[in-house]
Amino acid sequence: MAFHPAIAAKDAAAGVGAVDYRLQRRRTLADLKAGKVAPSEVCDAHPELLRVARNCASPSATACPVCAVVGHLSVVHYVFGTRLPASGKLALSEEELDRYLRLTGEFSAYQVEVCSECGWNHLIRRIPLRP
Ligand SMILES: [Zn+2]
Repeated sequence: MAFHPAIAAKDAAAGVGAVDYRLQRRRTLADLKAGKVAPSEVCDAHPELLRVARNCASPSATACPVCAVVGHLSVVHYVFGTRLPASGKLALSEEELDRYLRLTGEFSAYQVEVCSECGWNHLIRRIPLRP
């Protein structure tokens, strides 16, 4: 499932807790390999997500599962919740995520894998931020 802020709004309205999207990620990659989905359908990262991946996030040593290029795959977190913008707020460190544990309100972090080379992006998990 490609990342989009609308997903967060829908989950919040449904009261969804922790969600692990890794099984869906594996299925998407298997469908890509089998030719059931086109690369353009899964390499569609939003320009802002690509900008963050290129300029703010730390690339991992893991190769991208789509383009196989090393050094362009990053994991970023967007936080959604009380008094935050509808598009979420970027959190680039554990310290930034921990800050939401001390605030009053409901917050959830969405962990997103993104490749700045090919545009692959997928949700990894949704993490409720509760003390
Ligand atoms: Zn890639």
